[in-house]
Amino acid sequence: MSLHPLERMAEREQLRDPFGRIIDYLRVSITDRCNFRCVYCMPEEGFPVTPKDESLTNPELVRLVGIAASLGMSKVRLTGGEPLLRKDLPSMVESISEMPGVSEISCTTNGFLLSRLAKPLKEAGLTRLNVSLDTLLADRFEQIARRGSLAEVMQGIESAIEVGLTPLKINCVAMRNVNDDESADFAAWTKRAPIHIRFIELMPMRWSLDESPSEFDSFAAHGEKGLLQLRQARGDMLSDVEMRRMFISADDLKKHIEAVHGELEPAEVQTNGPARTYRIPGALGTVGFISQITNDFCSKCNRLRLTHDGFLRPCLMSDGELDLRTPMRLGASDEDIKDLIRHVVAHKPERHYLAEGQKVTGRGMSQIGG
Ligand code: SAM
Repeated sequence: MSLHPLERMAEREQLRDPFGRIIDYLRVSITDRCNFRCVYCMPEEGFPVTPKDESLTNPELVRLVGIAASLGMSKVRLTGGEPLLRKDLPSMVESISEMPGVSEISCTTNGFLLSRLAKPLKEAGLTRLNVSLDTLLADRFEQIARRGSLAEVMQGIESAIEVGLTPLKINCVAMRNVNDDESADFAAWTKRAPIHIRFIELMPMRWSLDESPSEFDSFAAHGEKGLLQLRQARGDMLSDVEMRRMFISADDLKKHIEAVHGELEPAEVQTNGPARTYRIPGALGTVGFISQITNDFCSKCNRLRLTHDGFLRPCLMSDGELDLRTPMRLGASDEDIKDLIRHVVAHKPERHYLAEGQKVTGRGMSQIGG
């Protein structure tokens, strides 16, 4: 006899790691390709792209998400690379949104293709959208993202608001002496639009360049803005050392914003993440801070990450991951795959050690899914 859906809900397992954290949020990187080359994320020539047959197909991705959902992973975010580059994204969203146990399906995008895809994604059942945007100045956009244009991203944001993909979150990676002077302008935007701006602390990721003294010299000689120009000319990305130098803490940004707009008031916003959220009194939107370096929120981490090629990672910042693709292609049953997922949860690290100088040497952010 088949179970009533409510009985099935009651039966659903809840994953809990050895530190007592409930794991209910799956971030899925659906591609490692990207149409931008953000200077802190990818070199100009990109990273070597995974051969097609090593990437998960739509049915494989949907199957793995379904199995995770049956283990209580009720919130799913699709990211990348740039997820809107995958033509099957709307159908993937539709399949996931209809899954029993999935309460929320969201997506993180650079916004470049959003003006045409906002409506199909909304119709497919997307519940939330985050758009990454680091500057409101067109020429600075060219220096940071190195592809696309600010006008197209802004058009995408307008389309998303028009079709009701609200409240929309804007993720802004803050960099000292690069875009930190715009923090108050971003905050001013929330006065007139129902958007949630979230400032993200820059994370020193892999693919470091040579960290010889000459790297320090080049920093001293060029300053942060000069370095962006240098990176543009050379076509490479910021090194680990440069990212550490460009770091600005969420607290410092909050002070910049309060110096212009007055004291921010705490705001209650439903998130799956660790943002501390505030509001300029009377504003339509909010201002949040994601301070994964200075105020690491590992103790509240509820996530696993599935890469586009089928590896499950318990932590963005630790290189351990488990291959689900090979067993799946060799005929593993749903129960076998559930055991692998439980195994990953059982090995979730307690925290990252970036503030202590930990180096991330494995995949880059675009290959894991930021
Ligand atoms: N292409 C999509 C986008 O741009 O939102 C999704 C993938 S992107 C890797 C996800 C997020 O990671 C973006 O908000 C990006 O700014 C952020 N990111 C990438 N590298 C980062 C770094 N080193 N530190 C902090 N955030 C980073």
